[in-house]
Amino acid sequence: MSLPNCPKCGSEYVYEDGILLVCPECAYEWDPAEADADEGLVALDANGNKLADGDTVSLIKDLKVKGAPKDLKQGTRVKNIRIVEGDHNIDCKIDGFGAMKLKSEFVKKL
Ligand SMILES: [Zn+2]
Repeated sequence: MSLPNCPKCGSEYVYEDGILLVCPECAYEWDPAEADADEGLVALDANGNKLADGDTVSLIKDLKVKGAPKDLKQGTRVKNIRIVEGDHNIDCKIDGFGAMKLKSEFVKKL
């Protein structure tokens, strides 16, 4: 049987540990069933780069925020994003604004 390469470093020496797959080279562990389920969730930034959970992005334009006293400014850094389903496909926290959702087309990966 063949195991997939490590999604983090591309190593082919992946082995099974119970239900998890483990990479001996970068020590990444993941659940292959979960990885399959996540495949439908793709968020692309303004440049067409694929975004992933934990990425840092910056805004490419000023964005109005409902209920906030000020706009989000172009160039604002957003750390540790989470990709979610829906029209606003980035879940994140922004200093001074709190938790919010953004559209991936309005950010670029840093
Ligand atoms: Zn690896």
